[in-house]
Amino acid sequence: AIEVSQLHKYYGDNEVLKGIDFRVDAGQVVCVIGPSGSGKSTLLRCVNRLEDPTSGRILVEGIDITDPETDLDAVRSRIGMVFQQFNLFPHMTVLKNLCLAQQKVLKRSRAEAVEVARLNLAKVGLAERENAYPAHLSGGQQQRVAIARALSMNPDMMLFDEPTSALDPELVGDVLAIMKDLATEGMTMMVVTHEMGFAREVGDKVVFMDGGVIVEEGTPAAVLGDPQNERTKSFLSKVL
Ligand code: ATP
Ligand code: MG
Repeated sequence: AIEVSQLHKYYGDNEVLKGIDFRVDAGQVVCVIGPSGSGKSTLLRCVNRLEDPTSGRILVEGIDITDPETDLDAVRSRIGMVFQQFNLFPHMTVLKNLCLAQQKVLKRSRAEAVEVARLNLAKVGLAERENAYPAHLSGGQQQRVAIARALSMNPDMMLFDEPTSALDPELVGDVLAIMKDLATEGMTMMVVTHEMGFAREVGDKVVFMDGGVIVEEGTPAAVLGDPQNERTKSFLSKVL
């Protein structure tokens, strides 16, 4: 589970997160929606400490990751992250991309890393492409490789930051289908997305952020179907 309480984040004088409280329980899929600049990415990046929170507490599986004593590398290896830009290593084959962190961080043998990598490539439907370089794959395939790479670390939870926003429309479905499979398997997931269909169908909870605060949260049916706050209504009228 992820438990965030009174999270504040400043960039200089700019308060970007203004006291965020929320939780993601084990096996839950929480979709985060909201306008550009509302702090969605910053929130996600605080959860795996790519950013330092200014104040507040974040517990990941009960471990306080804002505590300076906490081993951040250990925590990060439990949290998979997938970005809008796939961030694959361009000079490495798909297989090598999937093996690198397994060997470096988890100290797996090459043979074991390859085995895990192949399992996860098959899972995202790319078993045949292990020797390809990223540039020779479509955007959708690259994103599926990025997901397989994150899964190869056997994370307890996955964070997705607009994983389909950089994709051509016809490639979006494949990536969403894999995310849906993951959710069905019980993966704990936090997903920043503009895909309202996905949020409605797969999300257990939808969180609407605006101006660095959570304005409204609840079931997809409640937040997307019957929003109570004017800001939520106005946002949804533009994206739905
Ligand atoms: P988008 O939908 O465009 O991705 P977002 O909701 O993810 O937006 P964030 O990227 O979290 O928003 O940004 C929130 C605010 O923090 C913005 O005003 C942004 O300019 C500011 N910000 C983000 N990263 C930094 C940074 N590294 N340094 C300074 N300001 C930043
Ligand atoms: Mg963002």
